[in-house]
Amino acid sequence: MDLTSPQYAQELDRQDELAGFRSRFEISDEDLIYVDGNSLGRMPSATPARMGEILKEQWGAGLVRGWSDWIHIPSRLGSRIAEIIGADEDEVLCCDSTSVNLFKLIQAAMRLQEGRSQIVTDNLNFPSDLYVMQGCIPGTSRRLSVVPSEDDVHGNVEAIERELSTSTALLSLTHVAFKSGYMYDMRRLTESAHRVGALALWDLSHSVGAVPLSVRSAGVDLAVGCTYKYLNGGPGSPAFVYVRRELQERLLSPIWGWFGDGRPFKFDLSYEPAPGIRRFNAGTPPILSMAAVEVGVDLVLEAGIDRLRAKSVKQTEYLIELYDALLAPHGVKLNSPREAAVRGSHVSFGHPEGLRVDRALIEAKNVIPDFRAPDTIRFGCTPLYTTFSELRQGVVRMAEVIRDRTYLDFTVEGIEVT
Ligand SMILES: *Cc1c(COP(=O)(O)O)cnc(C)c1O
Repeated sequence: MDLTSPQYAQELDRQDELAGFRSRFEISDEDLIYVDGNSLGRMPSATPARMGEILKEQWGAGLVRGWSDWIHIPSRLGSRIAEIIGADEDEVLCCDSTSVNLFKLIQAAMRLQEGRSQIVTDNLNFPSDLYVMQGCIPGTSRRLSVVPSEDDVHGNVEAIERELSTSTALLSLTHVAFKSGYMYDMRRLTESAHRVGALALWDLSHSVGAVPLSVRSAGVDLAVGCTYKYLNGGPGSPAFVYVRRELQERLLSPIWGWFGDGRPFKFDLSYEPAPGIRRFNAGTPPILSMAAVEVGVDLVLEAGIDRLRAKSVKQTEYLIELYDALLAPHGVKLNSPREAAVRGSHVSFGHPEGLRVDRALIEAKNVIPDFRAPDTIRFGCTPLYTTFSELRQGVVRMAEVIRDRTYLDFTVEGIEVT
């Protein structure tokens, strides 16, 4: 059967055992091809009602009395996220943004590792992660080593391992690279870090909810990740931190906020860090946003991460088949790994006019991917709601934009958000 035919995509959709989950999301335009769930997940249909309940009953009627329950939400939500990343329930906390959490963990780790000066990372990392690391350097004797990828697609595992030494305090990487979708072997690199006495910190933003993770069995020390991508927690929803239990009492957050104190409502004037993971709280948690995170997290748990990964692999494989048939002939590059084992849940295509192609897709073709400089157009597969027919339509419309040069009608002037 022709892999590019609509019938083939429909057959894949018929075989999809997760297909029913799509109806659990708000989909107001059935013709819209949304392949940007790796940037902002769709809204679960149950979210407005859940948030409405919190607004009306808890804030509206309960008022400040709500805090007796609300103070437990970061830990409660953390224990659910723990299930998704293979941690124990008392090892994860939902709080702050990924960037802030990364800062907290890096500073805490560097203090514990006093005497070691080096932080090792790579240039596939997310800019915010690199900025946070850069910001941890001035005024200290620390140095940051950024190991370059050889092809801007794959992580350079051997070069990273060569960079690790007894002066390395911390290895900090993003598990699935935001641009190429390359996925590191978390266990292998964590072991390599441990071999020289370094700690390993992983950013799981692009893997949580899409890829099976087992931070505990991989020996991971520290992790952060966000909830508005594959966990569908909504714009600006809080992130999470994971700290291996054995390390929790030895680490101190650099932000000694009252919610990280053992008894915030005692209003004691000296900080006494809470036992366990709770000490990584800083200030008042965003209760409303957390209600939305809970809905998203529950959907992922209900679907099951292994089934989600199985579908995700099938979908990214299909995207690459469609790429070979429909995009490669137009000179589009594949900016993602071909081997599923080292690929997350999105596929990146390279085109010199990528930003204009992206604009044309959004404005003329009702397809929403996203663009990452200099040339990358990302198609994200969110197995909870992405259909095979959608992926096919998205690639077909992208091929049209390039073939017909529709992108020439679009300017990149004044585009602030891609
Ligand atoms: C999305 C993402 C972030 C986002 O950080 P915020 O502080 O939540 O804005 C950070 N790191 C990586 C790797 C990401 O993919």
